[in-house]
Amino acid sequence: MSDKRKKRKFNAIRERRRLNQLREEGRLVNGEEVPSRAVPADQSQQDPNNSYSLRPAYYIDLDFTCCDCGKADVWTAEQQKWYYETAKGSLYATAIRCRDCRIRLKDLKEEQRQHMEEMKRRDADG
Ligand SMILES: [Zn+2]
Repeated sequence: MSDKRKKRKFNAIRERRRLNQLREEGRLVNGEEVPSRAVPADQSQQDPNNSYSLRPAYYIDLDFTCCDCGKADVWTAEQQKWYYETAKGSLYATAIRCRDCRIRLKDLKEEQRQHMEEMKRRDADG
């Protein structure tokens, strides 16, 4: 066997070992290697309404600009995992608002809800 072929064979064995190692560590999802900074995804927990090809194998911190105040923020890999797998969010959805603006919007919606209930109560009384 030539040195070149030996080397190629050696590389193939090394690659197989590396992939086995990744699989054991849970860093190989659906045949895709999870980068060291990323969080592996549990694709069985992702929204089943989306096609399989759309499902990410892992999550990685995402920089974005808030659509309300223009502040730069980060949607972390852990937050994405929670959103897509625990909250069953749509895989088409992504972060558009910073934390402050999300809280502000939530408060505003709550205020509107209370206002509507107040109006209903008034209608019932009158
Ligand atoms: Zn904002």
